[in-house]
Amino acid sequence: MDPWTYAPAPESASLAEVAPSYRPFIDGAFVDGGGEPLKTVNPATEEVLAEVGTASPQDVDRAVAAARRAHEKTWGPMSGAERAKYLFRIARILADRSRELAVLETLDNGKPIRESRDVDVPTAAAHLFHHAGWADKLAFAGLGPDPRPLGVVGAVIPWNFPLLMAVWKIAPALATGNTIVLKPAETTPLTALVLAEIAAEAGLPAGVLNVLPGAGDVGSAVVGHSDVDKVAFTGSTDVGKEIGRRLAGTGRRLTLELGGKAANIVYDDAPLDQAVEGVVDGIFFNQGHVCCAGSRLLVQESIAEEFGELLRARIETLRVGDPLDKNTDVGAINSRVQLDRIVDMAAAGDAEGAVRWTSSCPLPERGLFFPPTVFTGVEQSMRVAREEIFGPVLSVLTFRTPTEAVAKANNTPYGLSAGIWTDKGSKALWTAQRVRAGVVWINTFNRFDPTAPFGGYRESGFGREGGRIGLDAYLHV
Ligand code: NAP
Ligand code: MG
Repeated sequence: MDPWTYAPAPESASLAEVAPSYRPFIDGAFVDGGGEPLKTVNPATEEVLAEVGTASPQDVDRAVAAARRAHEKTWGPMSGAERAKYLFRIARILADRSRELAVLETLDNGKPIRESRDVDVPTAAAHLFHHAGWADKLAFAGLGPDPRPLGVVGAVIPWNFPLLMAVWKIAPALATGNTIVLKPAETTPLTALVLAEIAAEAGLPAGVLNVLPGAGDVGSAVVGHSDVDKVAFTGSTDVGKEIGRRLAGTGRRLTLELGGKAANIVYDDAPLDQAVEGVVDGIFFNQGHVCCAGSRLLVQESIAEEFGELLRARIETLRVGDPLDKNTDVGAINSRVQLDRIVDMAAAGDAEGAVRWTSSCPLPERGLFFPPTVFTGVEQSMRVAREEIFGPVLSVLTFRTPTEAVAKANNTPYGLSAGIWTDKGSKALWTAQRVRAGVVWINTFNRFDPTAPFGGYRESGFGREGGRIGLDAYLHV
């Protein structure tokens, strides 16, 4: 046996305590939903994990009415200091149950346990602690002397960071005195329902948080509900545009966190080994199911060949496989639909003349997997350069001058994130000022911190989540 092969180090699936069935959480209780139950699968095995009750249109009405009552009677009138106590309590219980939540997230989503354990769950806890701290200090946030909550928030989230995206909506909504109705993604509803259980355990008053599993029709009913004061949506640009059209002229507030096609710019003076790590993390973290993924590598022509060799050598060492194995770097693709989309997009790259390179890593025999893939010879007109693939596929383009790098980085309808790798501070700042992206990382990538606002320009959406300015989207100021 190759001496560098790791023995399997699986985390125990039983830590997740998966129940055979789950139910919607409305007005402080788990209730039978009126919708058709769905089955959520583990994408690493394609086996059913649990049956999940879904919300009917009447359930959406009940949840919104419960959230309205809670806003008027309990949560709205409560002082910020009192609200903070609940949020701190929820944050602490979430941290206490972090191992269970990490395993559950990995089972339901397919992401490596290393990431759910070290990124998703701790970042979710940090986001709750951060916002708990704001609850009694809103008048000092610099947004206005007497910020007031909006009322009822309707939130819809995607499947790539199920718990973290739930918390990104719930924490600011609750800290600012709003109540919320949340629709998790169809393929990953479980951790949001455990979060509801945690909220109940923390004694959160009934109706403040409601979680309604279901498909896009439930999401549509939530965002379209006439008694919802603010919609917070994270998902695809197409659905975001549709929601934007529906809310236009209603006076209801909206934030949209949508797709991306970020450039990771590597200058010839960059520390190459560090840049390789950043590029690998940028596109293979979470199987590339990341809105801010560095899916376009822009590398300076003079180092393109050398950098390509270093990059391929590093990618060859990534282990693809059982997401519960602590040695796994790249886990399962979340759904058959998404896997088909990645396969189609890669085929489009071949058809348009890009050169495909695939890691030789072995793939598991069952489950939904796609090997780390790199396209070189990519032209800006190709689909693999323009469209979000949302998978472990990197498109490599080259540039000669900083001006050309910026022009190519900005040649996209999106504007969520960007990465810049260089030894020169002045060049990094010059580039950062010209790249039109909501988040720009310099000599690093995929850093998430509750104190730093996150959000996009143009087709990546509008509004910011996190930081002081993220509170603004949930307040009359
Ligand atoms: P999606 O189809 O837009 O789904 C997102 C959520 O919206 C899901 O809960 C979905 O339900 C629901 N939904 C579907 N149709 C709807 C409708 N007509 N009205 C209201 N809700 C509806 O997106 P996806 O493909 O699952 O997620 C990946 C996308 O999210 C990518 O484009 C990615 O870039 C983006 N994303 C952005 C950020 C960010 O912060 N900018 C973060 C993460 C992901 P179902 O689950 O039943 O489909
Ligand atoms: Mg699932």
